[in-house]
Amino acid sequence: AKDNGKNSYSFYAPDMSKSLDRKLLVEGALREAIGKNTLYLQYQPIIELKTGKTVAAEALLRLKDDELGFISPGEFIPIAEETGLIIPTGDWVIENALRELSYYRLVGYESLSITINVSSLQMKDRNFIDKLKLMVQNAKIPPEFIKLEVTESVFMENVEKSINLFREIKKMGIKLALDDFGTGYSSLNYLRSIPLDILKIDKSFIDEITTSRVLSEIVDSIIGMAHTLDILVVAEGVESEEQLSILKEKGCDFIQGYFFSKPLMPNQLEERLQEEKYA
Ligand code: C2E
Ligand code: CA
Ligand code: CA
Ligand code: CA
Repeated sequence: AKDNGKNSYSFYAPDMSKSLDRKLLVEGALREAIGKNTLYLQYQPIIELKTGKTVAAEALLRLKDDELGFISPGEFIPIAEETGLIIPTGDWVIENALRELSYYRLVGYESLSITINVSSLQMKDRNFIDKLKLMVQNAKIPPEFIKLEVTESVFMENVEKSINLFREIKKMGIKLALDDFGTGYSSLNYLRSIPLDILKIDKSFIDEITTSRVLSEIVDSIIGMAHTLDILVVAEGVESEEQLSILKEKGCDFIQGYFFSKPLMPNQLEERLQEEKYA
């Protein structure tokens, strides 16, 4: 028998059904976590380069199962999308991120924004806008402190429809960020026509700015182009001082990455905000 871990129950299964088993197990774990309300969020600080302070935090979903252990969102989000579980999961994320932001506001961090990942499938749900409105009203948070992160995949089916959806979100006062910029398709084309506030340059670009002149110049022009369109820029996955200083030089607005902080538990984020306040 192949040893494929203590969680496996299919000793002679070929690879295909092994991955199918894993999918079913992950789906089960997600269902269970939704039912038992054991999903949780971590928050990764987003730092404004001008001030060096945390101005926002990205909510990142976490799933830990008794048997499977920690399952990364890179694995369970696609499964949630395939199974439709992304709808209740996504609702849960928005509701809880807003609740946590209310708390930070209550204890004095009133300029903090929260940024929430939204799957394109979740956005295409008929009730998305209505539910979002209700959740924002209930949380009593000024909408400009709420940002939604979407990826270019949202445009795949129907650009026109997506743009209308974005306009509705913007009408509510909520900010829009384009996530993983550079990994999708003809991104440059959309930029002019979509009402974006923020562009997040993907980590794969940032990884190479210290070693590749071409990449460095591409990042340069992305930042320039974004600024021309009044769009602010976040660099994702910043891990070194060297990357930081290059991005500063290029006029990047915000930085996110392990160099500053890994995703934090809510109490750790509060500690960090506290430290910065008196720094
Ligand atoms: P993302 O939205 O691009 O989130 C950034 C990911 O990069 C996070 O991984 C974060 O922990 C990681 N990261 C941040 N800084 C660094 C760095 O300096 N170095 C490295 N190596 N990694 C860094 P995570 O939390 O595993 O999330 C993976 C993806 O899962 C996210 O990518 C996002 O697409 C998705 N995701 C996470 N939470 C949610 C959610 O609530 N809803 C939806 N729809 N998707 C989510
Ligand atoms: Ca279990
Ligand atoms: Ca994101
Ligand atoms: Ca990203």
